[in-house]
Amino acid sequence: MKDRISQNLALLNGQIGDACQEYDRDVDDIHILAVTKRHPISVIKTAVAVGIHNIGESRVQEADEKIKELGQIARFHMIGHLQSNKAKTAVQLFDVIQSVDSLKLAEAINRYAGEADLMVDCLIQVNCSGEPQKSGVAPEDCLELVMQVNRMQNINMTGLMTIGPHINDEATIRSAYRKCSLLFTEAREKLGADFDTLSMGMSNDFALAIAEGSTMIRVGTSLFGERPSH
Ligand SMILES: *Cc1c(COP(=O)(O)O)cnc(C)c1O
Repeated sequence: MKDRISQNLALLNGQIGDACQEYDRDVDDIHILAVTKRHPISVIKTAVAVGIHNIGESRVQEADEKIKELGQIARFHMIGHLQSNKAKTAVQLFDVIQSVDSLKLAEAINRYAGEADLMVDCLIQVNCSGEPQKSGVAPEDCLELVMQVNRMQNINMTGLMTIGPHINDEATIRSAYRKCSLLFTEAREKLGADFDTLSMGMSNDFALAIAEGSTMIRVGTSLFGERPSH
């Protein structure tokens, strides 16, 4: 498994390099978040062994089982929808919560982080595609939520996350990513350089996300192959 994952990582780094060349980006500005949801613990260990530092999981309970066993071997990012009633566990498990999409959720995260004397890095998830089934704040509500969360004591407001449209059309994908990128730039002008993460792009569209300013791509399939269905 180690050889295969390390080959996939080399291939991915090559593709990131190509995209950076094509779209005039600096490769050092693109970070890889390896998404290990539904994969066993051995996959996370192997990813870390081949040089991955950031791991993404999408369900609190699954992450709880994995992280308890693994310990803090990487930075763990929550990328799935988070309910306020799971915020307490999430705060204890994750270094970064990328899926903050309401004031209520942010308040819960801030309260539990305060009780545990922790600072949690948070990204606001934006629904830039406008698809109704997707979570995330509407683009027009994004900056207000960023500013509200930025005032919370136990949260570092570090960026935005978005999931691209579920459609195989470059122009549509790029325009959704561009919308998020413009919001990111606007928020960064207000918040400063610590607001530095624009999490967008997955295995099938990361080159387009890089074209539009992504600083973190979230990739599962291209590193680990198809996910087990469970
Ligand atoms: C599963 C998932 C990914 C990774 O998807 P791949 O297509 O396997 O790269 C990225 N982001 C989120 C939010 C996910 O849920």
